[in-house]
Amino acid sequence: MSFFDRIKELKMMISEVESSIYGEKQDYLEVYERNIQLEKEIQQRTMELNIANKRMLTLQHILDMMNSAKPLQSVLETIVNSIQGELGYMHCNILQKFEDENGEYLMVIAQSNDASIKRVSKMIKIPIQTRKLRYDHNSIYAETLKEKKILQTTDLGGTLKSVAPDVPENIIDEIMAGSLSKSIITVPLYSRNKHFGWFNVFSERKELTDGEVTFLTMFAQQIEMAITIADLFEAVKEQAITDGLTGLYNRRYFEEYLKKEVKRSLRQQQPISIIGIDLDFLKQINDKFGHAYGDLAIKTVANILKKNARSIDTAARMGGEEFNVILPGIEADGAMVAAERIRKAIEETELDTIGHVTASIGVATFLEHSDNIEEILELTDQAMYQSKRDGRNRVTLAKPITETSWQEIAINTFVDILSKHNMPISKDLSDELCNKLKNAEQNSQMPKEALFSVADILTQTYNPLHSKGVIKSKVQIAVSLAKRFDLPKSDIDNLRIAMLLYDIGNLMLPQELLQKVTPLTEEEKNHIKEHPIIAAREILKPISYIQDIIPIVEHHHENWDGSGYPGKISKEEIPMTSQIILIVDAYFALTEQRTYRSELSPQEALEIIKQDSGKKWNAALVQEFVTLIENDLA
Ligand code: GH3
Ligand code: MG
Repeated sequence: MSFFDRIKELKMMISEVESSIYGEKQDYLEVYERNIQLEKEIQQRTMELNIANKRMLTLQHILDMMNSAKPLQSVLETIVNSIQGELGYMHCNILQKFEDENGEYLMVIAQSNDASIKRVSKMIKIPIQTRKLRYDHNSIYAETLKEKKILQTTDLGGTLKSVAPDVPENIIDEIMAGSLSKSIITVPLYSRNKHFGWFNVFSERKELTDGEVTFLTMFAQQIEMAITIADLFEAVKEQAITDGLTGLYNRRYFEEYLKKEVKRSLRQQQPISIIGIDLDFLKQINDKFGHAYGDLAIKTVANILKKNARSIDTAARMGGEEFNVILPGIEADGAMVAAERIRKAIEETELDTIGHVTASIGVATFLEHSDNIEEILELTDQAMYQSKRDGRNRVTLAKPITETSWQEIAINTFVDILSKHNMPISKDLSDELCNKLKNAEQNSQMPKEALFSVADILTQTYNPLHSKGVIKSKVQIAVSLAKRFDLPKSDIDNLRIAMLLYDIGNLMLPQELLQKVTPLTEEEKNHIKEHPIIAAREILKPISYIQDIIPIVEHHHENWDGSGYPGKISKEEIPMTSQIILIVDAYFALTEQRTYRSELSPQEALEIIKQDSGKKWNAALVQEFVTLIENDLA
């Protein structure tokens, strides 16, 4: 017998008792005793039901919750729907109180899906569930909190007016006229001793019996338990260590586990190798076959990693289409063999519809390539990117960090950006520039010159008045300035790379705007100002090994007094390298010809810069800069 059937039966028994009192005028005492007995029985049954119901609810909803994006809401909806229509309950909902800058308000977070609510929603135009409702401190809701008990009101119209004062009177009257509900019973809800919201029942009766109060109290406990379970479930989900799609460990676990391994490795002086794997052309697979097949490719790689790992190896999905394997105790040579085995297994596996996929792999070894694990992860990534550049579907071993020069990083960055082909320059040009850089990398004499020349050519695509050789002079001056301020070598290297890249976002600007001869409108000016920085960040963001460069580029238009953009940061908050770029860039802009004005002489440019000393730039920086240029000119 279901929970509700039993309740119905009990109710029938009660009405029998009641009719026996009033109808047949039986002996009062006898009835009284029977009543007491029944009350006891209700209590007893209620207790049993309580236990049974708890189990049912828990089991039935846990599965729903797990598969739902909004577990709590889906459970609450199931609960309110389960009781609607029973016991003369016309409609049920759960309200919660929220607060924003305009104060407290109520929202319906779950409601039964019945005819009456559909009718009301239609009449008030906006679905109730998306409406902010007024929280009135004199309402039945506030009252239940003060008295900490279930309350009933027969003033349905008044309650509706109080929560939705903007609904016109005549509509409220119309709603009331068509309503079968005679009262609202409001049950305050608590979860882990904190007020959670209210459970509202629209009853077809004006009365509320003690038995019903007991029943609703218990029913509320079910809701409260569901809330608690959903909360716990959310917490558990957050602590999950595996990835839903592949069953591999997730990034969080990877990082924690690696930390432990590093400690052990340092203690025992044992190497740890990291294999970094990135699927090739996943985007094309998604585009061509659909996301489900992209997922299939990811799952296939995950399964290969599981199969190929030794019991102490740990494979993790770092996110998207990127995987890492930790090989404790394995040196670089061994890791290269393992990586090659993984590469081959991926290449050889036949996938439904897609056919074959490949992956690009990088390998680096802790204590061998660096004794800093952060650096190892970066080196793994760089090696993986090198595999991409060399044609994908291959394994590359990392180079020790000291041997990776800034030129190499800059060349790799440009090759990565250009080979993505997502900038509005012709494929021929980007291929040509890529080749130029790759050749220069092999001939170690020339890489710097090749970089300057590529940066010059790219600049010319958006600024036809840009003259060759300017980038080289800019970098030289910026580096001299940085040295005058005693910046560490790593900052100076980053500055050199940033000097080549800071204006790359201009490539994404509409040509007609850049070459406009007439003065720009305010809107156009703002677009020109902010857009390149946003674009640069977007272009550089996917390249994991130059993450230190991005903030330098991002802040190269911040002014010393905070009047710059995009962060409006000021003084020492602005990276020194960004300040250097700003002043060097300004000087060269002033001394270069523009479509709307002719070039200024170096002295004129320096005068203009001096005028903004302490405002646009730090006074000390201006002083050093002026000295530097004047020495140069002398
Ligand atoms: P490359 O060989 O250079 O790595 O090319 P790619 O297309 O694999 O790499 P890119 O970084 O350009 O794009 C990665 C794509 O992977 C974009 C993204 O939509 C897709 N992706 C990321 N995570 C998932 C996922 O969970 N499922 C599916 N189907 N696709 C994903
Ligand atoms: Mg990829």
